[in-house]
Amino acid sequence: MAKQQFKAESKRLLEMMINSIYTQREIFLRELVSNASDAIDKIYYKALTDDRLVFDKDSYFIKVTADKENRTLTIRDTGIGMTKEDLENNLGIIAKSGSLAFKKENESKDGHDIIGQFGVGFYSAFMVADVVTVISKALDGDGAYKWESTGADGYTIEPVEKDSVGTEVILKIKDNTEDDSYDEFLEEYRLKSIIKKYSDFIRYPIKMDMKSSRRKEGSDTEFEEYEEEQTVNSLVPIWKKNKSELTADDYEKFYSEKHYGFDKPLKHIHISVDGAVRYHSILFIPESMPFDYYSKEFEKGLELYSNGVLIMNKCADLLPDYFSFVKGMVDSEDLSLNISREMLQHDRQLKLIAKNIQSKIKGQLQSLLKDEREKYETFYKAFGRQLKFGIYNDYGTHKDVLQDLLLFYSSKEKKLVTLDEYVLRMPEDQKYIYYASGESNERIEKLPQTEMVSDKGYEILYFTDDIDEFAIKMLMTYKEKEFKSVSSGDLGIEADEKDKEAESESNDSKELFDSMTEFLSGKVKNVRASKRLRSHPVCLTTEGDVTIEMEKILNAMPN
Ligand code: ADP
Ligand code: MG
Repeated sequence: MAKQQFKAESKRLLEMMINSIYTQREIFLRELVSNASDAIDKIYYKALTDDRLVFDKDSYFIKVTADKENRTLTIRDTGIGMTKEDLENNLGIIAKSGSLAFKKENESKDGHDIIGQFGVGFYSAFMVADVVTVISKALDGDGAYKWESTGADGYTIEPVEKDSVGTEVILKIKDNTEDDSYDEFLEEYRLKSIIKKYSDFIRYPIKMDMKSSRRKEGSDTEFEEYEEEQTVNSLVPIWKKNKSELTADDYEKFYSEKHYGFDKPLKHIHISVDGAVRYHSILFIPESMPFDYYSKEFEKGLELYSNGVLIMNKCADLLPDYFSFVKGMVDSEDLSLNISREMLQHDRQLKLIAKNIQSKIKGQLQSLLKDEREKYETFYKAFGRQLKFGIYNDYGTHKDVLQDLLLFYSSKEKKLVTLDEYVLRMPEDQKYIYYASGESNERIEKLPQTEMVSDKGYEILYFTDDIDEFAIKMLMTYKEKEFKSVSSGDLGIEADEKDKEAESESNDSKELFDSMTEFLSGKVKNVRASKRLRSHPVCLTTEGDVTIEMEKILNAMPN
């Protein structure tokens, strides 16, 4: 019996695979450029051991050319090229990776910079092209060959003429359909921006002929178009450069080029780790809050690169929520990518990196606090609230990371102080860390409840942010000192003793207080005499954990 053919179905299968692996079709260019870079890497590694070869960096490059008229896009490289067998094996068999094989063969020596490993990236070209033609001449081959395919139907291979070693991948860009346009993949500026986005740090120059216009010679009003070959990628990523060679300006430029923010970064952190997990990272603490910071639209995360190739725009797992304001990137060669390179296979390495990064950010904030107080206060005004949320969330599990970073306005110092500074200044007989809550510092200053504590010479922290008291409740203590609201019933100072005396006075005026309590029923629990007042006739105090201010906030919360 004759075998049935799967032909039509396998074509559909390839299409399905390609279109379901990748979320964006622009990544085909990342894949083809990565392959070209791998091919140049291979010739470079070969040159290291082969005396016949001299690797002259200038003669190795990748060139991307769009031809609008013929609707073709060509990616040419001067890499190692493919023999007829290579074309059959590496492009003819889906999921076969010549690069992975190369890496395994050379594991002990070289090859760790090679990007390819899955053997599917090449086929992403079919997301944007009807026909893919590959013309290649291998370093150790017998002439050049042309491989051509319209998808899973199969491919043809035939000998062709080609002078130099290397590969040309020619895509016949799809025609536009009623609801889909492919023209963007023939536009130089669009192509350049895709390259900048994903392949900016490919080690070899990616060249394009870019059109520009200039003033005609001898004329003030007439312009002429001209074409110029440009290298569009940045080649060496700033994070792989030596810190000592970089200036604050370089980091600022990187910050704005990457569109991390419109402001200037307040501080940068440049990390290179070569330990249990290897990674490079450049992080920024912004100066001001992004306009959407507290909106649903805001997405935290860092850019994630694998070997210099962008794989994720916002990797949220790299940043805890309380440091969500941090911007920047991480590049690691130790990540296990999934097949699309858009996600990670395992998160063990990522967790290690995240933990490491978290402690670096904390360290940087602490040194900012210590050495550049003014800058820290700018930061704190923008993002302090986020730190306090961080303490409050997850039942205070992160308090150790965050408590030293808090600042509150001090009644004594008339400026922001840390808890540590407060505790250091505490007189010996002071038992508690006192705080007072209110809408503003001015209002708190006028609270009758603050008088007695202040008169005693004790410092009071002013809580003007909704979250303050909630966060403090999670801390419970700082350096073994409990927090105490000035409006709580028991202030732990000697006047409390006097309050007891006052109690007997309360008994003397029992009738008056009883009728006042009755009159205010539902509003207060009890009316009694107090010795804690100085210049005010009355004040409110609370019993138990929830203070008046917290009650106000809780009552105002939507149910
Ligand atoms: P991967 O890059 O993950 O190995 P691809 O599907 O992108 O998978 O490519 C398959 C294989 O084809 C590569 O491993 C490589 O051996 C070969 N290849 C692709 N493009 C080129 C090129 N420009 N030059 C040389 N070899 C290439
Ligand atoms: Mg590849």
